[in-house]
Amino acid sequence: MSWESVIGLEVHVQLNTDTKIFCSCKNEFGAEPNTNVCPVCLGFPGVLPVFNKRVLEYAIKVGLALNCKIASYTKFDRKNYFYPDLPKAYQISQYDMPICESGYLEIEVNGALKRIGIKRVHMEEDAGKLIHEKDYSLVDYNRTGVPLLEIVSEPDLRSPDEAYEYLTELKQIVRYLGVSDCDMEKGSLRCDANISVRKKGDTQFGTKTEIKNLNSFKGVRSALEYEIRRQIKLLEAGETVIQETRLWSAERQITIPMRSKEEAHDYRYFPEPDLLPIEVSLDMINNIRKELPEMPRERRHRLVKEYGITDYDANVICLERDFADYFESCAKVCKSPKRCANLMITILSEKLNDLGIDISQLKISPNALAELVDLWEEGKINNLVVKQVLEEMINTGKSAKDIVEEKGLSQVSDEGELERFAKEAIEKNPKVVQDYRSGKKNAVMFLVGQVMKATRGKANPQKVRELLEGLLED
Ligand SMILES: [Zn+2]
Repeated sequence: MSWESVIGLEVHVQLNTDTKIFCSCKNEFGAEPNTNVCPVCLGFPGVLPVFNKRVLEYAIKVGLALNCKIASYTKFDRKNYFYPDLPKAYQISQYDMPICESGYLEIEVNGALKRIGIKRVHMEEDAGKLIHEKDYSLVDYNRTGVPLLEIVSEPDLRSPDEAYEYLTELKQIVRYLGVSDCDMEKGSLRCDANISVRKKGDTQFGTKTEIKNLNSFKGVRSALEYEIRRQIKLLEAGETVIQETRLWSAERQITIPMRSKEEAHDYRYFPEPDLLPIEVSLDMINNIRKELPEMPRERRHRLVKEYGITDYDANVICLERDFADYFESCAKVCKSPKRCANLMITILSEKLNDLGIDISQLKISPNALAELVDLWEEGKINNLVVKQVLEEMINTGKSAKDIVEEKGLSQVSDEGELERFAKEAIEKNPKVVQDYRSGKKNAVMFLVGQVMKATRGKANPQKVRELLEGLLED
């Protein structure tokens, strides 16, 4: 029997505003526990929340980028439940009138675009962080009141791979907007997954389970794969899937039951009496729309068209906005955007990785990198030398031209000089020559290697090969 999985994702994104959502405490990751707190976010009796307008702007930004309808009138609600990380015993969230609804995001599935519906995006406050030790638990209230957006997809995803694609695209969009760093390790992006299976062709949904505790995109994919197998096995054995919340154990690579799924009425939602409803003007929405940056998908397409680079290169370059900005600055002034792309996603990325920095911390300007690209493009240096020059540029801050000149790294392309090296290699290696002449054409690569060595890597390997083959055929 053939089965189909139905997946919806709930993603929580922490917004990187300077202060919390309802008080003026700093919103900062990694501070000493319980130092960024005040009576408001600690839930003292009688205190009143004051809404941080920046949160509304960020929510609208995300909503517009996800093609949502932005509410002209929205409000906060209380979601009541008790937990040690929630000192007020309620969370201020949005229930029936979220700020954004009915949007979509496009992902690529087998080379075609697929629209994944966004049901809603709402604003809420984060709870504190519990740290469980062996026989006691600690709580850090620095996180209470950190602004969150909950982004809920429609159950439009049909496979763990699609879920992975969706998360990747969503993260990229939110990062492009600059409203969150979406770092799952720091908890600034968190994801819960709803999943059910049904027979292919059925229109009714099966009973779903919710998976929590997913702490990486790969974890999401593995957990979904596991849960699909588990549900299918149950159904094929004639048993039923129980609607419940399950935890993903990354250690054991299985999901385990956590609790029966709570319903909305368990939370006794009611309108937050301490906050006024919010009217969102068209002006505000239009102003935010004007500020939206180009989204990653459009940018990828534009880079392919404008600079003639490959889809693959454009994908890699557009992963981060800073990186794409840098590429464009460099590509505009250099002689070969293609070579620039190539250099940036291989040698430069490797170097950034080694140094543990990102492109914004690189001390080389796009103009300076363009000079290096041009030297390469014009054949003045070969690819072996490019890396060396780039390293020198990073270490010394000198220009590519100066380094090439000072260190004598110019490619040896003087035919006479190269021929001398080639002849020498042939004379010194009669056995290899014999191999070549008896049909082992690959033997020429050994001789190319000898010439490269003799020129200290400065010859053009392609040229050397042609030259050697010419001499050997004589
Ligand atoms: Zn506070």
